[in-house]
Amino acid sequence: MKHDFNTLIFASGNAHKAEEVQAAFEGQVSIALPKDLGYAFDVAETGMTLQENAILKAEEAWQLTGKPSFADDTGLFCEALNGLPGVHTARFAAIQGYSGSNNELLLDRLSHNEQRDAFFESVFCLRWEQGRVCFQGVLPGTIALEQAGNGGFGYDPVFIPQGFSKTLAELPLRVKLLISHRSQALRSMQAWIAAFQSL
Ligand code: IMP
Repeated sequence: MKHDFNTLIFASGNAHKAEEVQAAFEGQVSIALPKDLGYAFDVAETGMTLQENAILKAEEAWQLTGKPSFADDTGLFCEALNGLPGVHTARFAAIQGYSGSNNELLLDRLSHNEQRDAFFESVFCLRWEQGRVCFQGVLPGTIALEQAGNGGFGYDPVFIPQGFSKTLAELPLRVKLLISHRSQALRSMQAWIAAFQSL
């Protein structure tokens, strides 16, 4: 039986991410946010891992809309901070009771630290009527000494991908789309969808 994955619900409220995800699908699949269909979507990320959170959000969107739905959860893991901010990447400063931004806190925690290795990890979960599947992408790099660049979002101004000398916020979006954690996980998901539909 052929499955209709032509329209997928992206279980997210983050318009920046939705833009990146839509660009990665290059018109092959159209992406709708729950709010585009009139649904309020706000799921607490209570999981202990990225995968648990991705599953929570994809399940909720599937239950809400009845359409094939996917969700991602992303974390930034720093070697010198034993993996922090990790699964709490979005709320790093708030959880640590820090009044500045997430990026300021990260630079502060790593000041005078030569060990600046870090990686972004994204996990995607796709939920459809027959079950669910998960995909992972990892982007290794280092944390810059100071913020640089205006592109992207979140931690992009402090993250230098391995082999580059500029932050993700300084690099063109097309470069980020080629190498990012989210793009890698998405490409795996796209390949899976193409394979599944070819049966
Ligand atoms: P989320 O849970 O996937 O929405 O992301 C968790 C946190 O990671 C948020 O604070 C985002 O700003 C940050 N984040 C996610 N993806 C990226 C990225 O590609 N670049 C920079 N920061 C990101």
